Amino acid sequence: MLNIVLFGPPGAGKGTQSEKIIAAYDLTHLSTGDLFRKHLGEGTELGLLAKKYMDQGHLVPDEVVIKMVEHKISSTTHSKGFIFDGFPRTTAQAEALDAMLQEHDMHISGMVALEVPQEILKERIKERGKTSGRSDDQDEEKVKTRIQVYVDETLPVANYYKNQGKLHQINGVGKIDEIFTQISSIIDSL
Ligand code: ADP
Repeated sequence: MLNIVLFGPPGAGKGTQSEKIIAAYDLTHLSTGDLFRKHLGEGTELGLLAKKYMDQGHLVPDEVVIKMVEHKISSTTHSKGFIFDGFPRTTAQAEALDAMLQEHDMHISGMVALEVPQEILKERIKERGKTSGRSDDQDEEKVKTRIQVYVDETLPVANYYKNQGKLHQINGVGKIDEIFTQISSIIDSL
């Protein structure tokens, strides 16, 4: 079992690299942002609840996210492992993830953290907003809020894994394939 947390600020390239990792290592993709957008598209109660937070650039409450992730993990069978993308985003989520993985006799193999300067993040999200259709990508104030929320609430999660000796940082600026090569060499060393 290979369970990887792909970590980084909004616009760091987690979705792009996740696709390459899944293809190369045959892992199950668990993106909480994608799951919320799916619920929203289907008009579920959970989707409507999440929308209130996503539209503001705020985090969806921990208990809501954790319940959704628990459901996805429990309902996935015959997996070689997970790539967690956009989760955990708070220390409470990281603790809950450790507990639920333990229940399934699993653990996090390592965290790969993509590092990208804020100015580049803002540019990338603006570009993505032109085609993604995501309203949270199209409003500069919301983007600012998301980056600030990342700094205040999500960055401590890197320390959580650092304390477990599981943090691997890489430069997220450069060619997609070159970044993927670096990610692969970390995954291969786990
Ligand atoms: P990005 O990382 O580019 O901002 P995501 O697709 O990962 O985009 O997340 C979009 C939004 O979904 C976030 O701004 C937040 O409101 C919500 N969200 C996603 N994952 C989580 C999470 N683990 N905890 C709380 N909120 C989340």
